[in-house]
Amino acid sequence: MDFLPEKIDAYAGRHTSPESEVLAKLNRETYAKVLIPRMLSGHIQGRMLSTFSYMIRPERILEIGTYTGYSALCLAEGVAPGGFLHTIDINEELEDMVKRYIAEAGQQERIKMHIGNALEIVPTLSENWDLVFIDADKENYSAYYDLVIDHVRPGGFIIADNVLWSGKVTEPVDAKDEETQALVNFNKKVQDDDRVENVLFPVRDGLMVCRVKQQVSD
Ligand code: SAH
Ligand code: CA
Repeated sequence: MDFLPEKIDAYAGRHTSPESEVLAKLNRETYAKVLIPRMLSGHIQGRMLSTFSYMIRPERILEIGTYTGYSALCLAEGVAPGGFLHTIDINEELEDMVKRYIAEAGQQERIKMHIGNALEIVPTLSENWDLVFIDADKENYSAYYDLVIDHVRPGGFIIADNVLWSGKVTEPVDAKDEETQALVNFNKKVQDDDRVENVLFPVRDGLMVCRVKQQVSD
């Protein structure tokens, strides 16, 4: 679902730097060959993730939910020299395509892909993150947040995608709709957490951006 009128969205797209050739190719190949291509971040959100990354200049990024690697490549653009990005996906069928694009973008040294359940892999990564991007199964957003929060450096960021869930988070939740319920719970949890300062960007499907405070009075 698009929150913005098509004309506005198109105008924003025409006034946002274009995707690189590699990203445009990955975007096309995902739409041609992979299931549920709308999960790919796409042009405007991709440029936004790249911009966030350049603003933060992270040395360590964790991405939960690689899919075809579009957001990983965007986030990797702003990584500080010597830094790197770990990305995790449970779907092993994506591995070859992601690795091919990581290589095509010349990012083999910077991006490490893990295949498996992020709930199991995240605790094995002993890093201190500057930026965490949560974009996997919505039911586990709160679990991912809990797993990473003590491993994000003070002043670091956690960004979670799709927190508006096509607007469903604002409607009465059907008891069977576990994804919407999980996102409602996640957004409330973040909002109530004194350890972070957060802003919900109503961009695309909603991005929750949290800054981990140095101390509670920050
Ligand atoms: N970040 C990508 C889109 C991710 S789509 C982009 O913006 O382009 C969500 C991905 O999460 C899917 O590829 C799915 O396989 C993965 N996923 C779902 N459950 C997971 C889990 N438990 N652990 C790791 N990845 C998971
Ligand atoms: Ca997403």
